[in-house]
Amino acid sequence: METKKKDIRALTKEQLREFFVQQGDKAFRGNQVYEWLWSKSAHHFDDMTNISKQTRDMLDANFVINHIEVDAMQKSSDGTIKNAVRLHDGLIVESVLIPAKNRTTACVSSQVGCSLDCKFCATARLKRMRNLNPDEIYDQVVAIDQESRLYHDRPLSNIVFMGMGEPLMNYNNVLKAIDKITSPEGLGMSPKRIVVSTSGVPKMIKKMADEEVKFKLAVSLHSAIDEVRTSIMPFNATFPLSDLRESLQYWYAKTKNRITYEYVVWKGINDKRKDVDALVEFCKFAPSKVNLIEYNPIDDGEFQQANNEALDMYVNVLEKNNITVTVRRSRGKDIDAACGQLANKS
Ligand code: SF4
Repeated sequence: METKKKDIRALTKEQLREFFVQQGDKAFRGNQVYEWLWSKSAHHFDDMTNISKQTRDMLDANFVINHIEVDAMQKSSDGTIKNAVRLHDGLIVESVLIPAKNRTTACVSSQVGCSLDCKFCATARLKRMRNLNPDEIYDQVVAIDQESRLYHDRPLSNIVFMGMGEPLMNYNNVLKAIDKITSPEGLGMSPKRIVVSTSGVPKMIKKMADEEVKFKLAVSLHSAIDEVRTSIMPFNATFPLSDLRESLQYWYAKTKNRITYEYVVWKGINDKRKDVDALVEFCKFAPSKVNLIEYNPIDDGEFQQANNEALDMYVNVLEKNNITVTVRRSRGKDIDAACGQLANKS
């Protein structure tokens, strides 16, 4: 019976070094192979030109290198690029390159589908199939970095975990991927340029604070009134706003980092003065920034972007209360790459 070969990128550097020692080789060989696997993103053992043919054949007999493949790439008229990424088991996730004047941002996925059920989100309509492995998250970033260099003449500068899935429900793998992305042996990016955006899992926010992570945190809030939030993000019934706020207070006490809130204002749902007052009340305990994100309808249903008067009201009230506010225009709408639109339609 043929034994299934192991994915070599599931091994840590130390495990690779030990493997070579067990094979009667030098531990240093593990470092060389590790560098090929991560900072040089080798897809085949034969690409490892400073490793002997005999050793490459031995690796090939024992391991596979699982890599994502960009199955389809769509380019928007505004320069945004959406990748449909095929994983080693044939499942597909999406990631997006968002170019701006001074930066290029990768929006990456952390799960295939999502176990949460935000009513406004296209991904929620896909069943959660599985968590992504660290290498699958890392590879999305590498693919976008290459596209950024090719199409926009500059390397990737920022990463947001705002693609498919809830990153804090795949916490360990997201952290391992970020370790590789920020390591000099990986992409060497600064953790300050990485934002993990969560719908708000209080226990995990506290864990991140305890572990003193260096990346930034954003919370998709969308309403600071329990009843409203539960109606659009039903898991809020399990993790109510009081728990979320307590975890954010804990986060701020430990990290002293400003908290960013992602927020969409929808017509008839959260576009009233009481909604913005509740938001101010919710976030005034710590320095905060609210990103008001333009919404892209996923169908003709109940979720439609609020009018400009409602947005202006939000901006005025937040600014009066010394809360930083930005209005984010959506990007890549014509290719279904905008926030909330990722649903493997390409
Ligand atoms: S908004 Fe995020 S957490 Fe909510 S269903 Fe969509 S992917 Fe999942």
